[in-house]
Amino acid sequence: MERNVVAIIQALDEQCISPNRSNLLFKGLYEQVITVVGQLRGFGINRNDRVAVALPNGPEAAVAFLAISSGATYAPLNPNYRAPEYEFYLKDLAAKALIVQPGVAAPAKDVAQQLGIPVIELLPRLDAAAGIFELSIPTSTVPETPDFAEPDDTALILHTSGTTSRPKMVPLSHCNLCISAQNVKTALALTETDRCLNVMPLFHIHGLIGALLSSMAAGASVVCTPGFYAPKFLGWLGNHQPTWYSAVPTMHQQILGRAATHTTPIKPLRLVRSSSAPLPPQIMAELEQVFNAPVIESYGMTEASHQMASNPLPPNQRKPGSVGVASGPDVQIMDEQGNLLPTGEVGEVVIQGDNVTHGYENNLNANATAFTNGWFRTGDLGYLDTDGYLFLKGRIKEIINRAGEKISPREVDEVLLDHPAIEQVVTFAAPHTLLGEDVAVAVVLKAGASVSEQTLKEFAAERLADFKVPRVVLFLDEIPKGPTGKRQRIGLAEKLGLTAS
Ligand code: ATP
Ligand code: MG
Repeated sequence: MERNVVAIIQALDEQCISPNRSNLLFKGLYEQVITVVGQLRGFGINRNDRVAVALPNGPEAAVAFLAISSGATYAPLNPNYRAPEYEFYLKDLAAKALIVQPGVAAPAKDVAQQLGIPVIELLPRLDAAAGIFELSIPTSTVPETPDFAEPDDTALILHTSGTTSRPKMVPLSHCNLCISAQNVKTALALTETDRCLNVMPLFHIHGLIGALLSSMAAGASVVCTPGFYAPKFLGWLGNHQPTWYSAVPTMHQQILGRAATHTTPIKPLRLVRSSSAPLPPQIMAELEQVFNAPVIESYGMTEASHQMASNPLPPNQRKPGSVGVASGPDVQIMDEQGNLLPTGEVGEVVIQGDNVTHGYENNLNANATAFTNGWFRTGDLGYLDTDGYLFLKGRIKEIINRAGEKISPREVDEVLLDHPAIEQVVTFAAPHTLLGEDVAVAVVLKAGASVSEQTLKEFAAERLADFKVPRVVLFLDEIPKGPTGKRQRIGLAEKLGLTAS
């Protein structure tokens, strides 16, 4: 098996990638990798030096990841960051250069220049035979065997999504990434006939590995869209004829909203993949109907180079509400004292495997709590059933503590999603003077639906113990999300202006 990104690309036949504006063939991609690695060396950038990148989603971001990680460490930043965020990340990374597209990401460029970090621009190439862009630095003579990155070099540095705390910096080696990509490929049985429609941000592990590198590992193609945009999604499916896509549940929900009013038939897919946040079983069932395809829910996190577990393809059983079986790494459940727990018992999900980072950077505290006896603690609660399927119960940090009673916000979400008027729901802790925390929900209603706060509370009370019934119900047009499309329960009360009652 290939253990660095360039080896994956080198092994490919002449298939196409990124068929967005013009198709880039794998041969052209390999040429692009060689030129970029040569240019980086000519510019004084060596293996394991960090190259920060602020690019919008699209073929350039996909190719930049594959090419730059083949010679240095790729450190993608969200192109929507503001100046203070760029300042924090560029300093945190000790970036040797910043790559932008001309005319885009002005704050990134300005901040880099103030910090004395050289800015390299990606200039479009008109003829895609040897790549789709050029770096705005001189091309020195490219050696016959370029100094490619080695399996243990750091290919990628990402920050976690920041759902539960300030984002943590995660270095991932080529070996980590290639093993994870291979695990996704195996779980989905990807082959060169597959074509993925990528809508996930390419500054996040889900898009980079769950869509892009897993496809490359299979010699398959990727359609690189400018990012998720619900009104365009079904049109992209029609135009590009992909066989699958991968997304987070909030995106799937918006797609279903569009599908309900779509007038032309929707072509079936081979599969739909869901990862990065819990997929409500109702959404899974609706997706399977709309796309006439199995929905494969998987469990991923930045520190594991994305995938840890996945539901299997038919004819094997997909279990709604489960994130599937271990898909490469060893997955176990641990108690607070560090003992592994037997089947059926709820505890912290822990993992071990070659796809897992060796540790956070610049974060001694996080490292001290993250590893126990060689196991990486995910911060997620769950249990394994007798068939080895993992059921997640929520995140340890998101549990609502109502006067000592522990409430899983996921359980409340799932109950309310059964109400016919509700399209989206997020349960979270509201501050309470006497109880410490109480249960609050924010809901988005289906188009044209209406329901009162009292009716929703009664609906919940018929299905949940009294202490779990939401005391606060907020009706919103949209649920606030983090930059990677995830709902953030922590800090939501403050964001929505809820004060202690
Ligand atoms: P931070 O670590 O900064 O708080 P984050 O954990 O959201 O942010 P990511 O690495 O993007 O950052 O996300 C990993 C987490 O996403 C997992 O630990 C888990 O809580 C959640 N997750 C991923 N896949 C699923 C899934 N299928 N079902 C439920 N939760 C999931
Ligand atoms: Mg996390």
